Amino acid sequence: MNEETTITENQLFKSQIAALEQLLEVYEKSVLEKTDELYTEITKRKQMEEVLQQSEERYRTIIDEMEEWYFEIDLKGNFTYFNDLLANALGLSRNELLGKSFQEFVKKEDSDSISRLFNEIFKTGKSTRNFVYELTRGNATVAYIEFSFFPRRNKRAKIVGFRGVGHDITERKRAEDRIQFFATHDGLTGLPNRLMFTQLLNHAIESARHHKRRLAVFFIDLDRFKIINDTMGHETGDLLLQQISMRFKQSLRAADIVGRMGGDEFMILIEEVHELSKVAEIAHKILANTMKPIVLLDEECRVTASLGISIFPKDGEDEQSLMKNADTAMYFAKEEGKNNYQFYSKNIKTLSIEHMAIETNLRLALERNEFSLHYQAKFDFKTNVISGVEALLRWQNPELGTVTPTQFIPIAEETGLIIPIGKWVLKTVCAQNVAWQKQGLPAVRMSINVSPRQAMDDNLIHDIKTTLKNTGMASNLLELEINESMVMHNPTQMISVLAEIKKMGVRLAIDDFGTSYSSLAQIKHFPFDTLKVDRSFIRNISENAEDMAIAKAIITMGKTLNLTVVAEGVETIEEMNFLKENSCDEMQGYYFSRPIIPEDFADLLREHSPIATRPA
Ligand code: C2E
Ligand code: MG
Ligand code: MG
Repeated sequence: MNEETTITENQLFKSQIAALEQLLEVYEKSVLEKTDELYTEITKRKQMEEVLQQSEERYRTIIDEMEEWYFEIDLKGNFTYFNDLLANALGLSRNELLGKSFQEFVKKEDSDSISRLFNEIFKTGKSTRNFVYELTRGNATVAYIEFSFFPRRNKRAKIVGFRGVGHDITERKRAEDRIQFFATHDGLTGLPNRLMFTQLLNHAIESARHHKRRLAVFFIDLDRFKIINDTMGHETGDLLLQQISMRFKQSLRAADIVGRMGGDEFMILIEEVHELSKVAEIAHKILANTMKPIVLLDEECRVTASLGISIFPKDGEDEQSLMKNADTAMYFAKEEGKNNYQFYSKNIKTLSIEHMAIETNLRLALERNEFSLHYQAKFDFKTNVISGVEALLRWQNPELGTVTPTQFIPIAEETGLIIPIGKWVLKTVCAQNVAWQKQGLPAVRMSINVSPRQAMDDNLIHDIKTTLKNTGMASNLLELEINESMVMHNPTQMISVLAEIKKMGVRLAIDDFGTSYSSLAQIKHFPFDTLKVDRSFIRNISENAEDMAIAKAIITMGKTLNLTVVAEGVETIEEMNFLKENSCDEMQGYYFSRPIIPEDFADLLREHSPIATRPA
């Protein structure tokens, strides 16, 4: 029994142990599993932290290294975060920039629009894109930036500030500005071009209409600029235009606007016109400043201009008609002998319309026998007789009526028609001279005008020779009047042509002297016999001290060069007396005689031949 009991106890113990071992195994397994889970959990968390950190780092790197400007501001607009690009461009350290206001770096003019923009983002929660701001530091422009702004939210999605991303568009902006500038300004002079001038004039008209004010528009065209350009070269022509545009500006108030319309055409806008006499004063000042000596190719020269004026609202209510009418008035100033100004009036309007019809009719004028010559006497102060006569072309057209040489000669020049017309003049004048002598009249010196195109014509010398021969006129009775402006700057060719003509015994005169840009040094190289002082200087002699001084200087210069000095356009006794006192040799002008038909001139010549008396 005892033995039996012991066995049983042993067995029980063993099974208890086994049970315990089993329990322990389960427990161990469970602990191990738990530890595993815990471990995985920790690793996962660690990994996540790493990912987060990496992404944060990546994000910072992107922001710091990107080419875009990046910043964050709080609701007050102060910087809370930004990248180096921004800080560096503003020239501030990170610490210096932190907490400063965004507004501090934009132009004052933009300040309100920026505040409005951020308010809008705050209200709507929506981002806004592509706003261009000029970033400044002090007064200096740092860059033009195109920004997009976004709301910045906290965890609870509440807007706590803004972030901005932008890129530098300075280059693009400058290029655009340049394009804009060149689209609205003239490249040579930097003046507003036609487009911009028209816009400015348009605004000025609006404002003048609103305030019931007047304004004046000037149209200016340089006299004989084409010849300067052709003979002195375009570079010199450009230089002249630059200097003249400076002079225009200097003649005006800062608020007045000068624009270049192209070529040698300029326009001026004068606002707040109270009296027309003031406008006339300004026009006079511009012409006087234009005429002052100018140095071109090392030579002292002189240019003149013709100026037309229209007044708002009297002469036009919109910019087109004001500009057109100022242009028409300018044409009239040209007709009046250049170097003067004219106000627009309805009467002169028709002139410009006729301009168009001239070319068409001019082509047929010669074969239809529509030309004739008038003769204007030159009166010698010393001998008190008619010393010479200038032949002036007249054109009578059935459709156009009387067309003046200033209207048709430039067109005849342009079209080349001047060559056959000039030949006709030469022939007619020589034949007339011989005819008068046959009638028993004294042999009188006859002048004809030769325009640039004629002077450059290879046949000129041949034509003169044959005409003199065919008509039998003495060569020393013929004089060619050559405009000053064409002579001076094609010297080599011109000197040889003129020398050839001189060799034939034909006399040479320099016409319209003083309106161009020649100096004593230049003209002494040319074989001239006569110098004709332009009538624009004679016209104002009695009122204008400057013109008086110029006229005196020209006479003195002519005498120094042993030239016969003739004053053109003498209309009054005062002018005549002034010229006599200042040793001018001869005068030509309405005071003594207008250009008249050949029969009348024959009578005049009879009256004032060597034995006749001086004019009344
Ligand atoms: P120009 O050779 O200087 O001629 C003088 C101009 O002044 C003429 O104008 C004449 O009528 C005008 N005149 C003369 N005295 C007075 C005066 O006291 N007061 C005023 N206000 N004017 C006066 P016109 O006949 O109209 O001729 C203008 C220009 O046309 C001439 O200027 C000349 O350059 C050109 N021209 C005339 N006939 C011919 C020609 O046959 N051939 C060429 N190529 N040109 C010509
Ligand atoms: Mg002449
Ligand atoms: Mg003349």
